Amino acid sequence: MLVADTIEGLRRELSDPRHHDARIGLVPTMGALHDGHWALIERAVRECDTAVVSIFVNPLQFGPGEDLDNYPRTRTEDLAGCRQRGASVVFAPTVDEMYDGDPVTNIHVRGLSEGLCGAHRPGHFDGVCTVVCKLLNIVQPTVAYFGEKDFQQLTIVRRMVADLSIPVEIIGCPIVRDHDGMALSSRNAYLSADERRRAAGIFAALASGQELVAGGERNADVIIRHVTGRLNTCVDTIEYVAIVDPDGLSPVESLDKPVRLCVACRVGTTRLIDNIALDAGAGAV
Ligand code: AMP
Repeated sequence: MLVADTIEGLRRELSDPRHHDARIGLVPTMGALHDGHWALIERAVRECDTAVVSIFVNPLQFGPGEDLDNYPRTRTEDLAGCRQRGASVVFAPTVDEMYDGDPVTNIHVRGLSEGLCGAHRPGHFDGVCTVVCKLLNIVQPTVAYFGEKDFQQLTIVRRMVADLSIPVEIIGCPIVRDHDGMALSSRNAYLSADERRRAAGIFAALASGQELVAGGERNADVIIRHVTGRLNTCVDTIEYVAIVDPDGLSPVESLDKPVRLCVACRVGTTRLIDNIALDAGAGAV
């Protein structure tokens, strides 16, 4: 497994596979890799000739006062895990390597970026889109893997790739959860034992929304109120509870087609997000 710290080194490494029409898969990450990331990486290794993992804590997607400086960094373990799982290349550039020359270009996906997390983290998705577009240009993968854990991000990236005709297939992967349903996240490392216990209530609240739908409830407001009530028993602050259409991310009133129930909240000072599919046709998914 090669570890490339520079764009030029990465391109050099990929020129031969590209020349031989290899199927190149990219898994973009910010490191502190856990089983959610490993699922994406293992899938890329399985489905591609050359699996590239990028590890880059992207300053552009952190707002003032957010956790950029404290974000967990576990480079040695990350590299060992990537090697063990058969990744071909890890691209781990420095901030200077990525943003040398003080770039002024910013990618904004209008409409999809303003709601949900975007309303609470202004500029966050511009930072995500700018770095993802740059990574796609650097690696030029055949496919790129993203987790449904960051559902809004996945929807926005799909739209950016379509609008800008970027020649890559975007694959969304299911959320990997802990034994108690809690969605795995690098930020879970911030939680104390008590906070971690309470945070399991987030998935329980989402699942209770799904149960309402299975029981016949179709009114989005009723489901949102119910899930909000459940969340209030375990988290410290709720940022949003929303039921949106999965493509446009706009709020729906009734569940006449498959939708997504999305939440963001804080347990202690840690911001956590999660989501679940609601499909009235299928009962629950
Ligand atoms: P991050 O390092 O948090 O930027 O995440 C990198 C990629 O891993 C993103 O596409 C995430 O959606 C995905 N990811 C993170 N946590 C999970 C999880 N629990 N299950 C599935 N995918 C995940």
